[in-house]
Amino acid sequence: MTKLKEIHNSVLHLLFPHVCTGCGNDILSNQSVLCMRCIDSMPETNFEVHPNNPVEKTFWGRLPLEAATAQFYFTKESLMQHLMHQFKYKSNKELGLQMGRMMGEQLQKSGRFTIDALVPLPLYPFKEKKRGYNQATVLCEGMAESMNVPVLDKVITRPHHTETQTKKGRIERWKNIEGKFVLTNPESIRNKHILLVDDVVTTGATFEACGIELLKAENLRLSLASLCIASR
Ligand SMILES: [Zn+2]
Repeated sequence: MTKLKEIHNSVLHLLFPHVCTGCGNDILSNQSVLCMRCIDSMPETNFEVHPNNPVEKTFWGRLPLEAATAQFYFTKESLMQHLMHQFKYKSNKELGLQMGRMMGEQLQKSGRFTIDALVPLPLYPFKEKKRGYNQATVLCEGMAESMNVPVLDKVITRPHHTETQTKKGRIERWKNIEGKFVLTNPESIRNKHILLVDDVVTTGATFEACGIELLKAENLRLSLASLCIASR
């Protein structure tokens, strides 16, 4: 490297420091928000290659699925917790895209997820507004780059209760609508194998409610993928 070029790069790095989101160390690649050491220490489950893995078992008798997986184990006070916090509460969208690409690559390699489209699990509109994005949609956008399939984010919605309800029976009505999903565009997923995506799976209740609604579409085949699996 010539002296001038060296100085140029140092000045650039000084003006625009590029550090790892995981550990704060300098990284040279502009293509990644994580250093190789952090990427290597992300706790992969490898569930995607195993039929009857713990995520699939979670949905036995609840939801008819082609395949299901979660990419990483989530534990408290770990690198994954730090990354999830950055992604969900610190507006680090680039990190979400990168984790989505990583997940998409693994699913593609497994050969068990031959899907036609990705569907992000919808967030309540007020939450999406507050956060600026739906984290599931960001993951899907990253996955789409690796899997070469479209993202369908207008298929299903998650309405929130409104203030127009009468005081009497308000809690009942709130309970009725809370946790419900509405399939708004069944035609767009008809005869397709779709992958429903969210950032975390715990009891599976949200995935189940959303999946049941999606399965109202004619001849739909459904698979699930979550970025993390949380210990119960
Ligand atoms: Zn790092």
